[in-house]
Amino acid sequence: MAAICPHWRGHPETQGGALPPLVNDAAYNIRRLRAEFSDRTVESHFNRHQLPRTQAQVRLALLFCATFYVAFAITDIMALGPGNDALILFLGRVAVAVSALISCLMTYWYPHSVRRIWLGASITEIIGMAAFMLVVIYRPTETPWHAMAMSIMALVVYIYIPNRVAYAVPIGVISTSVFVGIVIYQGRLSGTEQLTMIMLLVLSNGFGCMAAHRYALIRREEFRVQSFLKNLSERDPLTGCHNRRYLQQELLNMELSRARRFKLSLAVVICDIDHFKSVNDTYGHPAGDAVLITFANLLRSMTRESVDSVIRYGGEEFLIVLPETDLTGAVQLAERMRTALISSGTEVAPDTIVGVTASFGVTAVDFALVEQRFAQELLVDTADRLLYAAKSSGRNNVKSVEFFGRDSATLHARRAAA
Ligand code: GH3
Ligand code: MG
Ligand code: MG
Repeated sequence: MAAICPHWRGHPETQGGALPPLVNDAAYNIRRLRAEFSDRTVESHFNRHQLPRTQAQVRLALLFCATFYVAFAITDIMALGPGNDALILFLGRVAVAVSALISCLMTYWYPHSVRRIWLGASITEIIGMAAFMLVVIYRPTETPWHAMAMSIMALVVYIYIPNRVAYAVPIGVISTSVFVGIVIYQGRLSGTEQLTMIMLLVLSNGFGCMAAHRYALIRREEFRVQSFLKNLSERDPLTGCHNRRYLQQELLNMELSRARRFKLSLAVVICDIDHFKSVNDTYGHPAGDAVLITFANLLRSMTRESVDSVIRYGGEEFLIVLPETDLTGAVQLAERMRTALISSGTEVAPDTIVGVTASFGVTAVDFALVEQRFAQELLVDTADRLLYAAKSSGRNNVKSVEFFGRDSATLHARRAAA
């Protein structure tokens, strides 16, 4: 997979729907030992992408564990009889259930936090293992059963409770070692039995680690392919900008809904390079491509990362979506882009710098004022008409109008075009 563009532009509030980071070999490298992406941004994007699935898995796994932990209190009473020892073990089991329950609730209290899931899972696992060690100490005559339980619990820690491999492995290995230490200290097994038990525990830990590692790698490989396909379908390969499909099927709808919900302004800028055909005709198509890349980079460098979006709308036409921006702000930005373009150039051959200008159509809707619903195309059409107004009034300028909804949009656009 080749590097397309060095930037990642996603919206922090909408990570689920936003484009994944651009596919780039280095960013998508997976550290084999940790089974995580070496790039932190990609790893956190991956974790956020998996969040709903991880939350569902963590709730199910922890509630399942909590139920069994408490249910096994019956065996304590049967083994020890009702009394203080059984009560201590029962309190240990309740502590595990409470911790599991709090960890589950945390997935509702902090629905966007991946770290809290790891924290809740790790704490519950540690309390679970500690409670289990109490059982081993208070019921020393059942070591073979405990060894079997230890194997199962290690597998649960490695595979079934979602956690980072880097956290699950030390928890599994240390608790297994503590268990073996207690059993050896109790001295109830013969040397052969001890060795058999240790070998079986090494086996279950080894397989558990390998399975967890393999699962983490497979999920990341899958994410890498998904991201690659998503980029392929939603980005323009020449400039690395979002493409028109992404604008129409995801972005505009999402930004309009958000602006409407919070009664914010949203601005749209459409810009088009002037007389671009003559660049191709004079310097050739590859030179035209280079000019397009320069223009796209300039637009992106002047917009807010992870907030604004630059879309390649047509051949040499770009559309910029500016959330929480009013008409004045958008016009100022368009003016700055227009003048920055004039003073920039593209080296298309040694000693040949090509300079271009562009025309801009700008509109903005303030949802504090506009309550009526309108089709998303109307906003883009208004900016488009303003762009052509800018073209017909000599090019290299900015035309703008406030968007007030269906009727006013047409009216104002006509007025601006006149
Ligand atoms: P105007 O000022 O009215 O916008 O004139 P223009 O020449 O820029 O517009 P016109 O629509 O006549 O020509 C656009 C040109 O852009 C024609 C097309 O070949 C060229 N073009 C479209 N996509 C690409 C591309 O990806 N690379 C290159 N090099 N040229 C492209
Ligand atoms: Mg043009
Ligand atoms: Mg054009």
